[in-house]
Amino acid sequence: MIKTEDSQKYLDQIEEMIQKYKEIPIEAIIKQDILRLGLNFDPSVLKNNDFKTKDYFIFTFDHISLLEQSNEYRFKVPEEIKISGGRYGLLSTVVSVRVDPNSPYKITNEDQTIILKLYDTYIADVEFPPVPVWYQKLTSSGKFPNEIAPVIEWGYLIYLTVFRNCQYFGQEEECAFCDINHNWRQQKILKRPYTGIKSIEDILEVLSWIDTMDTTAKAYTITGGSVITHLQNKKETDFYFQYAEAIESNFPNRWIGKIVVQAWEKEELKRFKEIGIKIYHPNFEVWDPTLFRLLCPGKDKFIGRDLWIQRILESAEIFGPSNVIPNFVGGVELSKPYGFSSVEEAIKSTSEGLDFFMSHGIVPRFTTWCPEPYTTLSTIANQEIPPLIYFLELLTVWKRTFEKYKLPVPQGYGEPGRGKAVFSVSAFMDVIGYQGRS
Ligand code: SF4
Repeated sequence: MIKTEDSQKYLDQIEEMIQKYKEIPIEAIIKQDILRLGLNFDPSVLKNNDFKTKDYFIFTFDHISLLEQSNEYRFKVPEEIKISGGRYGLLSTVVSVRVDPNSPYKITNEDQTIILKLYDTYIADVEFPPVPVWYQKLTSSGKFPNEIAPVIEWGYLIYLTVFRNCQYFGQEEECAFCDINHNWRQQKILKRPYTGIKSIEDILEVLSWIDTMDTTAKAYTITGGSVITHLQNKKETDFYFQYAEAIESNFPNRWIGKIVVQAWEKEELKRFKEIGIKIYHPNFEVWDPTLFRLLCPGKDKFIGRDLWIQRILESAEIFGPSNVIPNFVGGVELSKPYGFSSVEEAIKSTSEGLDFFMSHGIVPRFTTWCPEPYTTLSTIANQEIPPLIYFLELLTVWKRTFEKYKLPVPQGYGEPGRGKAVFSVSAFMDVIGYQGRS
């Protein structure tokens, strides 16, 4: 039973943050707090199957394993929620769902309306994402389209995890925060249709429906785990290239093509650009050199931090600097046992990385670290979720650095700004252009 005084104390803390971080929209403050703490659902709101549920498009992004989730929850929660109105008069804000039955943020029903509560306080009205019409079909090979080409970001992004495992395997190689292999294992144990290596034919068939039936999707991402030897007798770059080539030759420039892969050589990247790929995400994950080595052991061993940086800079010559968008896993610098012990040190380190890339015209973004079960980090230590103040400091420094270098709005994320952004796993797009409040 939640005590009223706890509930009031937490609400007071949020309102203090709202007073302190006036450069950050209130929408972004609430969004980061929900992403940090996850969401708890009243099972009654999950009964209607008239919304798009989580497709587990690459990772679980849940705080408890799928195996631990009750039948009322498992595979029944929405991919994202859209919050609006309520206590702070929020503009529409899309937030990714991370299941946590212990979260103080609860989605519940009142007077036939779905709402978000923080403990017992009404915060906002809630919508669940619509099911795309083409989700009802089945491919010629008998696959479900939501498994082959799921959409996220309220339908904006088609997410093609073409290889659902990573050859960086086990604690010596796997990134310590990543649950791609553990997600795969859980989906298989639960007998969910979950194709390991997707066929180009299946993808093209689903894309042909999206092409004719869908007006919301504007971008696609080709991604998957790293390939350190060969996959289907192909080296890593050839394996991923075949998908890009097939999509762009069948649907030239129909959507904004993005690849989320390792830091590749310039010569390899040229052919991706020539075929029509617009955005390159060679994710950097964490800036501090020691943490990069400890948290990304496979990347460190097979490519190395210095070469990774050099290749990011070189890739800017191919795609244009603002179309190179390396991701940082926001908050993982505070993970145990290797991370920084204070928010100040963590922010100081990541700000250096943001400034370094942005000074070259590159636009790093960040996601919100989710300490999923079974990852190396959750196995070796009891992880604490980074405090809200860390994310608000990170958003502040990201926004200030982005403005200092007068960088363009990143392509492939939809419209920026409060009430418009659809990127759901951090609020970096929500803060763009915000003028602050008095
Ligand atoms: S390279 Fe790291 S983050 Fe990427 S899939 Fe492999 S383990 Fe995960």
